Amino acid sequence: MEKNNKYDVVIGLEIHLESKTKSKMFCSCLNDPDERRPNINVCPICMGHPGTLPQINKQAINNIIKLGLALNSKISNYTKFDRKNYFYPDLPKGYQISQFDYPICKEGFLDIKTEKGVKLIRINRLHQEEDAGRLVHSVDGTSMVDFNRAGLALIELVTEPDFSSAEEVINFAKELQLIARYLNVSDANMEKGEMRIEVNLSLKEKGERELGTKVEVKNLNSFKTIEKAILFEIERQTKLLDEGERIVQETRGFNDEKQVTLSQRSKEDSHEYRYFPEPDLPPLEISEERIQELNCEIPELPQEKRLRLEVEYGLKDFKIIEVFIENRDFGEYFEKIATELLNWMQHKKIDQSKYFDLVKLTTNYLTSDLIGLAEGKIIDFSEKITPENFAEFIVLIFMGEINSKIAKVVLKDMYDLKKDPSHIIEDRGLKQIDNEDEVDKIIENVLESNTSAVEDYKNGKVASFQFLIGQIMAKSKGKINPDKAREILSKKLENIQ
Ligand SMILES: [Zn+2]
Repeated sequence: MEKNNKYDVVIGLEIHLESKTKSKMFCSCLNDPDERRPNINVCPICMGHPGTLPQINKQAINNIIKLGLALNSKISNYTKFDRKNYFYPDLPKGYQISQFDYPICKEGFLDIKTEKGVKLIRINRLHQEEDAGRLVHSVDGTSMVDFNRAGLALIELVTEPDFSSAEEVINFAKELQLIARYLNVSDANMEKGEMRIEVNLSLKEKGERELGTKVEVKNLNSFKTIEKAILFEIERQTKLLDEGERIVQETRGFNDEKQVTLSQRSKEDSHEYRYFPEPDLPPLEISEERIQELNCEIPELPQEKRLRLEVEYGLKDFKIIEVFIENRDFGEYFEKIATELLNWMQHKKIDQSKYFDLVKLTTNYLTSDLIGLAEGKIIDFSEKITPENFAEFIVLIFMGEINSKIAKVVLKDMYDLKKDPSHIIEDRGLKQIDNEDEVDKIIENVLESNTSAVEDYKNGKVASFQFLIGQIMAKSKGKINPDKAREILSKKLENIQ
């Protein structure tokens, strides 16, 4: 994608995640992402009125510690908050409470998949801060400010410059998004601004040790946009360097309309923010005990789950595993069915060594037919078909009691009527005909009433065979196993002179 012979691409990320808390970071105002009325969730503390005192949100601190632990970080026992001073209309206090030299989490890492295998991305730090408000620009040129978001708990994650392609960046961001959701520390929806990614990108000549001048790219509100912005920047900077020009250290924004990055401002260095310790908050001490307790609350994370699905159920298809990883309820539904399968196998005396085969059949029906019945959507399927009924359905197919054509009819009825498969098969008279005499009779019957087709076949017209199979399936209302029909039909045709 971003093949480049002359330069190495060096990318680091700064990611902001809106923490899932009941109230704001330093006051009791509600954190309500669905509030549409502006300036409803505000108070003197988050508006920075003189004489007010901030208080630290315990849930927010627990969230960032959990995320830090999940990202293999060291959690600091001593940490403090600092003021980051700058002026902007959406910042009512004229400063943001953040963390400068003592972040809560540091030195973490996350493994990501790349074309060349697994790559370790180092995470420099995660620190806690508060969000700014939101500017709303009207068409008539006026701008208004909504402070509902001002003071929300915000986690900032900074990686080391370990990425060398857009693909790596996106894999990292997607994995982080999953982890945040599994931990329930952030919904991390990019289009809602709950996860905001800034890309720091520079080029250096191959073999060169020193990093080039970096450019920061903002306004990236989707994975697609990130990819486009990175590709654009690589091309733009390559061209400048090739022409002997200098790269300017600056912040650029991605312009969706023009599909380019445009310069916004020259980048401040940290000293321009005049950080100093927040005088209204004491240093925060985090006990080892608290860290251990939070560590115990961490659920199974995506990477462990992928591995377990592979080992426990013999899943090989990477795409199917990802469907279960990304849609956790659907994954749980699958696992419940897989457990029920074991009961049915015992009941029907199916050899345990066939388990992975039945599981594979299950994943096929789940990810194609069942999602198809829901018009391509992944919904709460347990409301439609119980895991027990679904497992029974799979066992019936596996044992050849219904063929794949009838299985579709049965599944649709199960879905629409919420009945178990054996009742549907009985009520609709769909049971497979496996009585040899009966199968024989149907085929004989078809041969007798289609003598010209038989003659055509004997004269070398191969298509007539398929025609006869069609007749047999129609006559039996699809209740004969097609493979069996083919086998018997070819034997019978051989015997006809
Ligand atoms: Zn408030």
